[in-house]
Amino acid sequence: MVDGPLADVLNCHCHRCRRFTGHHMAAASASQADLRFASDATLRWWSPDGAVQYGFCGVCGASLFWRTAEDAPNVSIGVGTLDQPTGLRTVAEWWMSEHGDYHTPEPDAVPHDLDG
Ligand SMILES: [Zn+2]
Repeated sequence: MVDGPLADVLNCHCHRCRRFTGHHMAAASASQADLRFASDATLRWWSPDGAVQYGFCGVCGASLFWRTAEDAPNVSIGVGTLDQPTGLRTVAEWWMSEHGDYHTPEPDAVPHDLDG
């Protein structure tokens, strides 16, 4: 559970998030200090290029987390894994320059690429 505030949802279409999720990452950011685990025995981390880390369940394969480093202040949580209702809304589309060619972006999506 998250024992603190969650930021609204960012959809990240970067090549790493597409590979991790099979589509795009829809995530809400929280403080890592606010995460509480009943058990994290099946939590696994994958770092495709050393620049970021993705957390997933080693048993069911759920795409759970994204963070820049183990000691990063924040972690992004795959919102599809949260109990409903989340009370969250999608506020941004990241890395639209890398979105899948099968995907039609929302017409009012605000692109935000970190490379400019
Ligand atoms: Zn991404």
